[in-house]
Amino acid sequence: GLTGSAADRWIRRAAELVSADAERLTALDAAIGDGDHGHNLDRGFAAAVAALPADAPAGKVLIAAGRAIVSRTGGASGPLYGTMLRRAGRYLDDLDDPDVADFGAALRAALDGVRELGQAAEGDKTMVDALAPAVEAYEEALAGGAPLPGCARAAADAAEAGADATVPMQARKGRASYLGERSVGHLDPGAASTALVLRALAETLE
Ligand code: ADP
Ligand code: MG
Ligand code: MG
Repeated sequence: GLTGSAADRWIRRAAELVSADAERLTALDAAIGDGDHGHNLDRGFAAAVAALPADAPAGKVLIAAGRAIVSRTGGASGPLYGTMLRRAGRYLDDLDDPDVADFGAALRAALDGVRELGQAAEGDKTMVDALAPAVEAYEEALAGGAPLPGCARAAADAAEAGADATVPMQARKGRASYLGERSVGHLDPGAASTALVLRALAETLE
């Protein structure tokens, strides 16, 4: 399962990848939004790293990270990422010794939380277009008997493909939706960052 130290390393690695790609994420958001996504998330994940509790189980680690992100991330993505991590954390926090299936269910709970809060469906050109296929791919890998690292790799690969698939979509949620048809032909910044966060998970568990 996902140990507390693996969850801790996941958040630290996500913060590194987001920081390294902050300019790219901000440029993607400049094309169809207000050009702050990389900056928003970089601040949020830096706050999450600063808030990581020592020697805590995975659930508590993710709850603390989510809370810090909500309080320090501007824009729509702060509450959405905060909800994602807190929901996953709360699911794990109720369990004794979460295994690979439990972590899949925690990711599913995270997706449900993001959907409830943002009211975005797949195809609306948002982070849901990366997260939803990632959760499905994780579940499929799990059903095929893959251990946690394999499930996480499947999720990261699917998130990247899902993010790429937002390019031809027209945005129906968030600031990009104000552009109407002019949002077509661009990668959604939130889907791109979601792919980074799931890649961080896969790298951490390798
Ligand atoms: P803001 O648009 O408020 O400046 P960000 O730039 O940080 O916030 O984040 C924009 C990203 O948030 C979008 O690329 C999209 O993926 C995601 N997003 C926006 N609105 C929603 C929503 N209702 N549901 C899911 N994701 C959303
Ligand atoms: Mg923005
Ligand atoms: Mg903004």
